[in-house]
Amino acid sequence: MDYQIALLGGDGIGPEVIAQAARVLERVGTAFGHSFVFKPALIGGYAIDATGSALPDETLAACRSADAVLLGAVGGPKWDNPTATVRPEQGLLGIRKGLGLYANLRPVKMNEMLIGASTIKPEVLRGTDLVVVRELTGGIYFGERGRRDDGNTAYDTMIYSRAEIERVLHTAFRLARQRRGKVTSVDKANVLESSRLWRETATIVAKAYPDVAFEHLLVDACAMHLIRRPATFDVIVTENMFGDILTDEASMLAGSMGMLPSASLAEGTLGLYEPIHGSAPDIAGQGIANPVGAILSAALLLRLSLGLEQEALAVERAVDQVLAEGYRTRDIAENASEVITTTVMGDLICERVTA
Ligand code: NAD
Repeated sequence: MDYQIALLGGDGIGPEVIAQAARVLERVGTAFGHSFVFKPALIGGYAIDATGSALPDETLAACRSADAVLLGAVGGPKWDNPTATVRPEQGLLGIRKGLGLYANLRPVKMNEMLIGASTIKPEVLRGTDLVVVRELTGGIYFGERGRRDDGNTAYDTMIYSRAEIERVLHTAFRLARQRRGKVTSVDKANVLESSRLWRETATIVAKAYPDVAFEHLLVDACAMHLIRRPATFDVIVTENMFGDILTDEASMLAGSMGMLPSASLAEGTLGLYEPIHGSAPDIAGQGIANPVGAILSAALLLRLSLGLEQEALAVERAVDQVLAEGYRTRDIAENASEVITTTVMGDLICERVTA
């Protein structure tokens, strides 16, 4: 089968890690008899330099006509001017909106080999295997905002419709069915009206999934329990801003930013897959970035957009194997003598992908 993949390297280490993820997909193609056709397109700072826009129309068109999108990262000091009218992050917000990516999934799985890399105690971390599902196109980031009283009072509006809450809840419950069968819905229903609608809606949606264990949790309690008992969570689902904060907190459980993948899903099968890290300008161009987050994002792409579960597992197994054999990029190495480059990490993972 032929699959069209839009390849958006972006800025900094983005193109370096995405190149390795694409190689791994090619290797999956050879091992399992698929063909991946890559369509490179511009996004972020490079796109601004080349076209004046962080998300050129051709990029959005290439993504819309693809089966899935693989993205590196955007941004960097060259474009870090808060007063500029065109900024790299507009590429990210634009693509989320343009593709209707309403659910952002961030899995955090504790790798026993890297348990020492986290700041949290191993006995607390052991067994952690959770996914945060964050609503991505609604809430306070998209509600009405402004200033009044001559600019001395500012407001932002958290707004959600029942339909927006329902669809992301369904994503979370469907995911839980493929995992350990538990959903934790996170809100601030003791204070916020939008959270009361969220809780009311979640309670109704949960009734359609009697096989999935379900609980509500206030966001402040969730922030605490993520650090205290992370292994007890399976799927956590929450609104946009709470999710923004909790996903960063959850990602630190795993130790390195370079290890973690993410998926952003639209209706249907189209999805955008990217490592959670940024463009890491401090190490860009040196060939030392960890490509594992990007490669595990490609595994999520295989699973969630293409429905290729065996292929996704083959990539995840290959990553585990390379780490178990002791290979490390600089960010996860305990001593400098064992450090390998971005490309070598890609080579080793490719070699271990088998049908
Ligand atoms: P960052 O994630 O780029 O880097 C944070 C630290 O982690 C750096 O020390 C970096 O070297 C290290 N790091 C990150 N990914 C790594 C990898 N794969 N391998 C090894 N080390 C890695 O975050 P930042 O420094 O806050 O942001 C840098 C730029 O990236 C900014 O312009 C920011 O706006 C942008 N950014 C983009 C995204 C995105 O595209 N989704 C996300 C976050 C930040």
